[in-house]
Amino acid sequence: MPTFELNTTHDPRRQSWIASANLPHTDFPLQNLPFGVFEHGARVSWGVAIGSQIVDVGALTNLALLSGDALTAAASVRDGELNALMGLDAHLLHALRLQLSTLLGADHPKDAFDQSSQQKIKVLSQELLLDQAKVHMRVPCAIGDYTDFLTSEYHTERHGRFKGLAEPLPSAFKHLPVAYHGRASSIRVSGTPVVRPNGQFKDGAGQVVFGAAPMLDFELELAGFIGRGNPLGQPIALDRAQHHFFGWVLLNDWSAKSIQWWESVLGPFLGKSFMSSISPWIVTQEALAPFRIPQQARPASDPKALPYLDSALDQAQGGFDIELQAWLQTATQRALGEPGQQITQTHLKHLYWTFGQMLAHHTSNGCNMKSGDLLGSGTISGPSDDSRACITEITHAAKVPLDVGHGETRIALQDGDAITLKAKANHASAVPIGFGECTGVVLAAPVYPA
Ligand code: CA
Repeated sequence: MPTFELNTTHDPRRQSWIASANLPHTDFPLQNLPFGVFEHGARVSWGVAIGSQIVDVGALTNLALLSGDALTAAASVRDGELNALMGLDAHLLHALRLQLSTLLGADHPKDAFDQSSQQKIKVLSQELLLDQAKVHMRVPCAIGDYTDFLTSEYHTERHGRFKGLAEPLPSAFKHLPVAYHGRASSIRVSGTPVVRPNGQFKDGAGQVVFGAAPMLDFELELAGFIGRGNPLGQPIALDRAQHHFFGWVLLNDWSAKSIQWWESVLGPFLGKSFMSSISPWIVTQEALAPFRIPQQARPASDPKALPYLDSALDQAQGGFDIELQAWLQTATQRALGEPGQQITQTHLKHLYWTFGQMLAHHTSNGCNMKSGDLLGSGTISGPSDDSRACITEITHAAKVPLDVGHGETRIALQDGDAITLKAKANHASAVPIGFGECTGVVLAAPVYPA
């Protein structure tokens, strides 16, 4: 049975010779080393975040500052997309992580090759270390397919009540992780503005109209990138499913609820496909090993999971100790230089299904996954008021406006509002690691038809 073992790359005593990686609140200490793709001037490369810097691993590879399996892994990256790397066997990915951790560690490398490489990186640091503030991040891989799940019963049940459903939590919810097929082509990296969509919806008088969608919302989610895929017709068993994830990013599943609630006869469509945002740094499977926790036990009164969704191993280590936040900054707050306000504080433990169960269910009919496919968790709302992870929940579906200061309130996002998502993995015996930010500002809808 595969498990998630800790190694020297997780050792909380280790620090980096890059000083910003040792600051107590950094998202990117030596123990994280998340992967991303960036543009620096006219050049596209890839690397790992460390403190406030990026190590250009593409350049390290070209300068032969990596060796053995680590070099094999790094040399797989082509054309500014990480898909081939993501699909590699775990031992190759570990070799790369271990060598990067050694080269960036403050402790002196024991291996002669690593010693010499570390010296060269220090000498060449002007070229190999880039300030994160001075590059433009990209979506890190070609995302072939994107599926978004719905795994918080609190989010689902609240929305069911808002819609006046006789059964607010659909009976299928506790039998299977429900999902819809999302739109991969409109996924954008953090920092990209989201343009309010035009669409069809029912206005206040109950008339069906077309225009700028008034009720725009965010959804705070975590999303897993698939590493190794599976052939068509060959499901991924639950006990192996967690090992098919390469890593995780923050996901904002922007939602035009006015459109969505009118059109969703056969699930979400244009209310979602106008854009989704992800954070640029993929926090890897291996980096998250110290933060695995048991999945919350199901109440005894809940239906027992069917055998293909039931595994003692997955229940024991299928969860993550990850706290997540959403921040809202209005245009007024931005003009005044105010950071905005935190509107959500939640935890991944509120999800009813694990990522392993999502993937096992997704492939149970033989559906194939490819490296770089993306699986969203669904809105990570918890039971308490402060853990509601979208504005529709926060405002009780527009009945209780949110006070945003300066005499303004919100029942939905207005043009000029920015949403920023953050997350941190915590464990008592590990160095906390973060996910960076997933941010986007709302722009006005275009005039359409002209
Ligand atoms: Ca969603």
